[in-house]
Amino acid sequence: MMGGAVKTLSVGLLAVALAAMALSAPAVAAEKMLPIFDTHVHYSREAWESYSPRVILDKLTAAGVARALVSSTPDDGTLKLYREDKERIVPILRPYRGRVDIGWFRDRGVIDYVAGRLGRGVYRGIGEFHLLYESDARTPEIRRLIRMAVARDIILHVHSGARPLRALFAIEPKLKILWAHAGMAAPPGMIRRLLERYPQLWTELSFRAEDIVPDGRLDPAWRQLFLDHPGRFMVGTDTYINGRWEIYSGLVEEHRRWLALLPRKVAKAIAHGNAVKLFGAGGRGGVWISP
Ligand SMILES: [Zn+2]
Repeated sequence: MMGGAVKTLSVGLLAVALAAMALSAPAVAAEKMLPIFDTHVHYSREAWESYSPRVILDKLTAAGVARALVSSTPDDGTLKLYREDKERIVPILRPYRGRVDIGWFRDRGVIDYVAGRLGRGVYRGIGEFHLLYESDARTPEIRRLIRMAVARDIILHVHSGARPLRALFAIEPKLKILWAHAGMAAPPGMIRRLLERYPQLWTELSFRAEDIVPDGRLDPAWRQLFLDHPGRFMVGTDTYINGRWEIYSGLVEEHRRWLALLPRKVAKAIAHGNAVKLFGAGGRGGVWISP
């Protein structure tokens, strides 16, 4: 995630309130919660210097998160977590070696690094990475990245607007893309057009809860979008700073609140079923997602 400070703040405050509520209701056992497959987790240097892998896995368990798609800056954090719990952690390879690297898509060294790292054979995707402009998606380096993803049949986890997304699919329609934050600012109509145009596109809804449930009521356009395309959405928390780990349960609960307003079958698909189809079943800590 980049930018969106105001939005981040208000989502953060809501999450703090929700986390406080969750703490005051210990009777809510983890196994009674709708299991979540969190498709947007980071365990970057700041996080691993503060929380051991065991602490992070306990946070997932407490929040009823059965599996998680994890990427980190640098990538070592992802492998630390994966080594600790291979049933639960789905590693995604982030191309940023030091910090979020805004020119990475023109850097051959980055793509060589990605190619070398993919050789480990544990990664189910490449990302989350950022593409600001359409032209960012058309570099020779990105074309090479796309070829690697298709050859290995792994996803790209892309944080971008609609234009770079279209550019990626124009280069290779066989690509599988998980669109971070469903484009962050993209309205439901735009998301619908993209989903209908690109059958290999899935979206992940971190940072979108306040668009989906403004004033606590499910927005009618979002609701219809979920009902029409129940197989194309997933939830995520985006723990890009430690503050997000501090309110992790609240961020997950924020999703459960709007999922509860949907038909159960649709809610389960979005909460975990769609991610299980792409990344497989698994789990730990009293939470298990069956295929
Ligand atoms: Zn992120």
